Amino acid sequence: MVVRAGREFLAIPGPTTMPDEVLRAMHRAPLDIYSDAMVQLTHGLLRDLGTLFATKGKTYIYIANGHGTWEAALTNVLSRGDRILVLESGRFAVGWGSAARAMGIEVQSLKGSWDRAIRPAEVEAALRQDTGHTIKAVLAVQIDTASGVYNDIEAIGKAIKATGHPALFMVDAVASLGCMPFEMDAWGIDVAMSASQKGLMTPPGLGYVAASDRARAVHISAGLRTPYFDWTERDGNEHYQKHSGTAPVHLMFAQRQAIDMLFAEGLDSTFRRHRLLAEAVRRAVAVWAEGGALGFNIVAPQERGDTVTTVRMADPAPLLAYCRDNCGVILGVGIGDLHGKAFRIAHMGHVNAPMILGTLGVIEMGLQALGIPHGKGGVTAAVNYLGDSVKA
Ligand SMILES: *Cc1c(COP(=O)(O)O)cnc(C)c1O
Repeated sequence: MVVRAGREFLAIPGPTTMPDEVLRAMHRAPLDIYSDAMVQLTHGLLRDLGTLFATKGKTYIYIANGHGTWEAALTNVLSRGDRILVLESGRFAVGWGSAARAMGIEVQSLKGSWDRAIRPAEVEAALRQDTGHTIKAVLAVQIDTASGVYNDIEAIGKAIKATGHPALFMVDAVASLGCMPFEMDAWGIDVAMSASQKGLMTPPGLGYVAASDRARAVHISAGLRTPYFDWTERDGNEHYQKHSGTAPVHLMFAQRQAIDMLFAEGLDSTFRRHRLLAEAVRRAVAVWAEGGALGFNIVAPQERGDTVTTVRMADPAPLLAYCRDNCGVILGVGIGDLHGKAFRIAHMGHVNAPMILGTLGVIEMGLQALGIPHGKGGVTAAVNYLGDSVKA
């Protein structure tokens, strides 16, 4: 006996659910890549990415997922043998660092933990120890999609600045851009990167990089530059140089539509929507946790990300299978160190109250059906929170 006929809901942290308008925007003939319309599409997106990253710096569009975009960022500012400092807080900054190591970069890690955010004071101490300024860049992630942690990028930027150390500050905003505040220039970020398929509500396949003037100065002598990713090539005046070849026209139509929708909602409203829905999820999880079988991965409430909640649980597979097979809700599995020990509820991008409350309702249904001990009334707590916060 199942209740899954109807629209399936993908509640994983990327690729995320896309608006119908975004899907429809791709259902058309391509543009002549030499036409004015194509040039305007490119320039409009480059401009609006600057707004999303909150930077006056240059922006770049790559045909790549997040991993490819990591490489785009690294190749443009580093040389073989350079040293970088990776701020551990889960899986993703570490993954970015592993890519760097494979490219011949020496990686120093600031040990972190999967259950908490990066400590800015520790970043400051690590940089102060590097009196010879051998560290060329500091890598961090705003929201680690594996652990669910939110790192205070502004505070880390201040800590770096306080040392006077010249290392570039490079930030991964794949799981946060367009969902919560990101202030590249104000926070002292030199290189920021993101991708299309999470908060930006577009199919996987586009990667975005933004570069400060300082990063572009360092770029001039970077030894790892490659023809496709190279900023200098892309800064050329010809339109084809902006894409190092044929533009990914349909993905750009999709991204255009999605950004139009974000701007129509208003970024501050988008951020508030994410905050409200994330808190609703946390209210439910907090109640369920009273049963002792599950709990938050991130210990400190203020360090929990507004785009994904990672829930620790001894054996989450039966619950995930129940939600998928009986109800058509697909939750994220635990990855990396949390493989088989956690599940993830995504609340990023094209999500609203019925999607989130429906997802929470299904999880609670699964806990009940499987006899997993849990505090009663998680969904009620989420509903009450939203009812008190979203006024008539
Ligand atoms: C998803 C994700 C990535 C990797 O993106 P892919 O498109 O899967 O390569 C990198 N960083 C963060 C924070 C992510 O959430």
